[in-house]
Amino acid sequence: MELLKELVEAAAVPGREHRMRELVRERVASLVDEVRVDALGSVIAIRKPRPSKGKPAKQPTRVMLAAHMDQIGFLVKYVDERGFIRLNPVGGFDTRNLFARLVTVCPDLKDPAKDLPGVLNPAGKPIHIASDEDRKKVPDIEEFVVDLGLPGDEVRKQVKIGDMVVLRSALIEVGATAVSQCLDNRVACWIVLRALEQLEHHDCEVQAVFTVQEEVGLRGAGTAAYELQPDIGIAVDTTLCVDTPGVPNEQRVTEQGAGAGLTVMDSASIADVDVLDAFEQVAKKKKIKHQRSILARGGTDAGTMQRAGRGRRTMTLSCPTRYIHTVTEMVHLDDLYACRDLLAGYLEQV
Ligand SMILES: [Zn+2]
Repeated sequence: MELLKELVEAAAVPGREHRMRELVRERVASLVDEVRVDALGSVIAIRKPRPSKGKPAKQPTRVMLAAHMDQIGFLVKYVDERGFIRLNPVGGFDTRNLFARLVTVCPDLKDPAKDLPGVLNPAGKPIHIASDEDRKKVPDIEEFVVDLGLPGDEVRKQVKIGDMVVLRSALIEVGATAVSQCLDNRVACWIVLRALEQLEHHDCEVQAVFTVQEEVGLRGAGTAAYELQPDIGIAVDTTLCVDTPGVPNEQRVTEQGAGAGLTVMDSASIADVDVLDAFEQVAKKKKIKHQRSILARGGTDAGTMQRAGRGRRTMTLSCPTRYIHTVTEMVHLDDLYACRDLLAGYLEQV
C-alpha cells in the first residue's frame, strides 16, 4: 500500500508528468537494465532476457508494457482580479462529480512544497437562494471556479496560465478495497513495478513503458511503440466496474473481486486472440482469478501501440475499478494482486 500511496500522491496531468516521471525512474531503476526518457516524456525501462537455463536467444520476443502515468485534471485558464481561477480540463470529467471538491494548484512542476490548496465549486447561487430551474442545471466545466482563499494580487503573483490543477483526496482502505482519486492509472504503474519485482526468469525482452498523455488521446504509447518496435504490446489500465445498484448486469463490464480483467475489445482496439488465449492459459495454470470484458466506449494505450509503425499484436490487462474518474475510484485488492501475478506469469512464459 505504501507504494500505491506514493504513486497517487504524485500529481501528474497530461503534459505535466514530471513528478511521476521522477518517482517511477527511481522505483524502476533497480528492476531493469536500462532506463531512459523519450521526447514526449515517457519513461522507457528495458529488461533484457533472463533465461532459467542456457543463453538468451539472439532475437528475443520483445514485449512492451504500457502503463500511463497521467491522470485527468486541469490547467489554469484564467485568473480574475479577485483571484478566482478558471480551468481547462485535460481528460474527461463528469461535472456532476466536481461540486464542492478540494483541489491542489501546482505552480511549480517539480516542487510539491509550492502547491496551493483550494476549493472547487460552480459559479452561481447556492441552493438556499437558487431558483427551482437553477437547481436542476448541470454546469459546464467552464462555469467552475477555484478559490485559493487569497487576495487577487497574491494569486496572480503565484499562479500562471498553464499551471496544473488536480483533485485532492488521500488513499484509504475501505473494506477489502483501496479508494482514491487517480487509481486510474496509478494501479497500473503499481502492477508493472510489482510484476517486475516478482519476475525471475524470462526469455523475452521486457520493455516497460510508463507513458504520457493517455487521457487526451493515447499519445505517448504510440510514439514509444514506434521507437521500440515490440512484437507484442500489453496495455495495463483500469476498466469500468459498474456492478453497482442502478446498472443492469449485462452492462457491468467487470465484476469487483472476480479477478484480473482481460479486455476482449474496446473502442480503440480489438485484442489479439492468441495473446488473449495465452493470458487465459497462464491464469488457469496458476489458478489466478480472471474475467473477460468488453468496453463499448473508451480505449487504452493498446489502441495506438497496435498501430504504430508496422503494427503488432496487443491486448489490455485491466483492473476493474468502480466509480472511475471520480475522487472515490475503488479497486478490490484481490483484483490488484491478480493483475500483478498474471502479468508476471505471462512474461515468464512468452
Ligand atoms: Zn486509464
